[in-house]
Amino acid sequence: MIPLDVFSSESIAADLLQQVRWRDGVTCPRCRSDRTVRNGSYREFQRYLCKNCDRTFNDKTGTIFAHSKVALRRWLFSIYAFLRFNTSLRQLQCEIEVTHKTIHRRIERFARALDAPSLDLVGPVEIDEVYVSAGKKGRERDQPSRPRGLSTRGRGSYDGDKPPVFIIADRGTGQRYVIPAKAADESTIRLLLADRNEESLTVYTDGFRAYEPLDADDAFDREYVVHGDGEYADDEVHVNTCESHASLTRRWLSPHRGVSKDKLTQYLRAFQLRRELFREPGRDALKHAVRATL
Ligand SMILES: [Zn+2]
Repeated sequence: MIPLDVFSSESIAADLLQQVRWRDGVTCPRCRSDRTVRNGSYREFQRYLCKNCDRTFNDKTGTIFAHSKVALRRWLFSIYAFLRFNTSLRQLQCEIEVTHKTIHRRIERFARALDAPSLDLVGPVEIDEVYVSAGKKGRERDQPSRPRGLSTRGRGSYDGDKPPVFIIADRGTGQRYVIPAKAADESTIRLLLADRNEESLTVYTDGFRAYEPLDADDAFDREYVVHGDGEYADDEVHVNTCESHASLTRRWLSPHRGVSKDKLTQYLRAFQLRRELFREPGRDALKHAVRATL
């Protein structure tokens, strides 16, 4: 259920931020001291005095919501619509009646505040890459991914404004990761697969050459499927989970097709977060999203 009350009342929005932010107690954003006392209010927001450094702060100080003339409830609505409904920033700009610059700055600040996903691979894992158009602002639709098989034709490059995006599906944990890279090469792949629990990680790939060096490495048990041969799924050995996740990723990026390559990381972190809170009730999802930025 959409938490409509939060979006219609600034004091309810302020309460939500307060609950999430100080769930482990109030601490001074400047000196980290917990010797704080309530000290009046700043509009709908509680204000505090730090007895250690003698400065005051409020519920918004030091968060991505600070220093905004636009009401918190509008920003919470924007984040909610962005994550849950995949709303474009252009549409949000109309909904909350702010300028193009304001909505971009604030939503991108939200996405930048999200942490990189920590990969803790159990395996077996599927790994695959897609190439998204990023760089030519809004002028070109995403192209289908590279022709399959061993061919290198049609693959994108970071410099050519079609950066590779790796999709990793860990069948052991059910986690999916979507990580943009500068290059689809061996060192990038090794780095992505470095955080693992098992001594030897089972890895399913397609026939792309950059995965070949894993064959000679004891740390990996690589099996691959060659799409070009008309062989799509050999029992366990396939990258179908990656492929369906790749199409969700494209759908996520589609309303934001002006996303430039240097902003791809933050948009994909938001996509990661979207998946994490997808099944949570509205209010919990919103809290989860706010917590992720603190
Ligand atoms: Zn302090």
